[in-house]
Order: sequence, then C-alpha cells, then structure tokens
Amino acid sequence: MELKQSSKLAGVCYEIRGPVIEHADALEANGHSVLRLNTGNPAPFGFEAPAEILQDMIRTLPAAHGYTESRGILPARRAVAGHYRRRGVEGVDVDDIYLGNGVSELISMAVTALVDDGDEVLIPAPDYPLWTAVTTLAGGRPVHYRCDEGADWLPDLDDLAARITDRTRALLIINPNNPTGAVYPKELLEGMLDLARRHNLVVFADEIYDQILYDDAVHHHVAALAPDLLVLTFSGLSKAYRVAGFRSGWLVVTGPREHAADYLEGLGTLASMRLCANTPGQLAVQAALDGPRSIESLVLPGGRLREQRDRAVECLNAIPGVSCVKPRGALYAFPRLDPKVHRIVDDERFVLDLLLREKIQVVQGTGFNWAEPDHFRIVTLPRADDLETAIGRIGRFLAGYRQ
Ligand code: PLP
Repeated sequence: MELKQSSKLAGVCYEIRGPVIEHADALEANGHSVLRLNTGNPAPFGFEAPAEILQDMIRTLPAAHGYTESRGILPARRAVAGHYRRRGVEGVDVDDIYLGNGVSELISMAVTALVDDGDEVLIPAPDYPLWTAVTTLAGGRPVHYRCDEGADWLPDLDDLAARITDRTRALLIINPNNPTGAVYPKELLEGMLDLARRHNLVVFADEIYDQILYDDAVHHHVAALAPDLLVLTFSGLSKAYRVAGFRSGWLVVTGPREHAADYLEGLGTLASMRLCANTPGQLAVQAALDGPRSIESLVLPGGRLREQRDRAVECLNAIPGVSCVKPRGALYAFPRLDPKVHRIVDDERFVLDLLLREKIQVVQGTGFNWAEPDHFRIVTLPRADDLETAIGRIGRFLAGYRQ
C-alpha cells in the first residue's frame, strides 16, 4: 500500500524551497553552476559572520554540549530584554522570552499554541509563506489582507478591517516586509493596532529585518506602540547578524498576560516538548546583541546592501514590462511583470523555464500567496555587478519568453 502524507499537509506549501529546487540541484549535479537567488541566506554571497560572534562561539563551544532550560539560557534572554529596552520597548520580562532554532520554530510554536480548527489569522499578501503554511498545518484558516503595490506595498486598512470575523484570533504584521521590502509608517501601524485592540486580536510582529533599513526608513516596534496589547515579537540572528546557519531566534511576549495565561501555558508546553533551542545558537545571542552594530555599515550610503538594493531596482526597472517598487528594508526585490507585455499564466513554470535556460533561481510571486502570476522575488544579496549581470540575463530571457 502506498504510504501517503498526512491529510494535515493538504494546502501546506513553502515554495522558497519548493519543487524547483530539485531541478536546480540536478543542474548542479550535472556540472552547471546555478545562481541561487531564492533564499535570504547571506553566507554564500561573501557575508562573513561578525568576528565577535564567532570568537565567542569558539570560546564557549566546549561547554555548549548540554540541554538548557526550555525557554533558553538566562544570559541570552537578559541580552534580548536589554536589546528591546534600549529600543524603547517597555515591560520586557526575561520570563516572557523564548529562544528558538531560528524564528521559524517559534512561529510554528506560537501559531500552533493559539489556533483551533477554523480559527483565522490575518496574514499580509504577499507574505513570508511560513506563516500561511503553519496556520494551515495547525488547522487554522489564513486570511490574506492585501498590500497595495501602488502605495509602496503598504497594507490597506479598509481591506484589513473588512476581513475580520468572529473567528479571527490574530493579526500578523511583517515589518520590514518580506518579500516587498515595505517599511510601515507609525500611523499605519497604529491603525492596524487599533483594529487588533477593537477585535481582541493577538498581534504577531515578525520583525526579523528591523535593522535592515535603507534611506531614511525608520522602524517602529509594534510592542512599543501597543503596550496594552498582547504582542509576540519575533526576531533573531539570521539576517542582521548574518549567521542564519546558527539557527538562533527569539520570541518576546509583551502586554497584558493575565487574560492569556492559558495560551502562554500552551506555548510553554510546546517549548518544553522540543526540549530547547540548540545551545551554541543560544550562546551567540549575547555576543551579537551586546556587540557592535556591524549591519549599519552595510545599509548606510556606500554600504554593500544598500548599493545592491539600488542596483537591483535600477536594473529591474530597465527591463521593458517590468517594474519594481524600491524596497526600504530587508533583502529582497519583488518586481511586477506587466501582464500586457509578458502574459505569464503559470509563474512556477516561468521560474522553472528561467532556471533551465539561464541557470538562475528565483521564486514565483504566487509562492508568497500573491494571487496573480505576475511577480517574482529575487534576493539582493549578490555583489552589485553580479546582480546587474543576472538581471540583464533575466531581461534577455523575458524578451524572448512566451507561455
Ligand atoms: N520571518 C521572515 C519574515 C523571514 O524572512 C524569515 C527567513 O527568511 C524567517 C522569519 C525565518 O528566519 P529564521 O528561522 O532563520 O530565524
């Protein structure tokens, strides 16, 4: 009898590492070199781990072979608490901080502990697709609110409000956003939080890119704007600290906890079921958060990330029938393929054809729960000249491409 996957996986997808990856692996196995612009992993593009993190890890590794407390080691949780206090978030208690194997694990725990069958979670479209996948897997219903490309990809408050029902349990805010790079102004966040307040929603704030900001973009922590709401803030070392492989993230609970004791107990149960986050990754937290803010030199004018973002947007916008809103944060660009010019019907097919022809791997827009097949995402991590070459090849490919 054929072994089937669980029916719980119906509709669960994560296209950033989706089926196209097998074709990319096969090409590499056959001796081709593939430019992988699909994952936000800084390491392959020459971003080194900050020296203070590495040295600290080497020093502490011999004593890092045991399990720790489920929420995580106290020095790391103290460092996280201090980090948020310095950034204007009040009322952060070390007992309300959980360390995880990356933010990914904590997203899964936070959603699973909350969502009953049929409960709804408001998720932006386009989104970082793990949130949709995890909500579906937990038996919940992801309800996507629309971000408006014509308004720098900011969410539309009326659209958001119209999607709230008596089954809505949580509002997810991804700021800065992946894949669009939008950074939300304070007034917009206040409007979103007001809706959460009026409808008793838990707020999930995925702020993993909060230090990767370009130009004059300012990031506002949701937890600082709404101390009266139950907010779960997620961040970690994968992006700003460029050690994605250390699998180190944290979750901070702020706001009134009294009415949420049962939910938090459930979160604690899930935290103990996975025993603890990997100990070396936990040990890296203090060195990272108390060390120099080396990300700043990468996002300031003249910095590598900023130059790459600029070049990517300029080259994308130079392709006929392609337009790209300038990302104000994060590590991605999410260009639009004008349907009148390019007529893509199946964007996964487009991504596969691009891979097979040009050996460049990007991710289709529908993989981010964007409804129409008219966008794709590339990471802006390669050197500016390499991005220019790659985007030039994408442009030439598009010029002769028909579906
Ligand atoms: N949240 C967002 C918005 C992301 O883009 C990512 C990774 O790309 C994650 C969470 C997960 O990060 P990690 O598990 O490496 O901490």
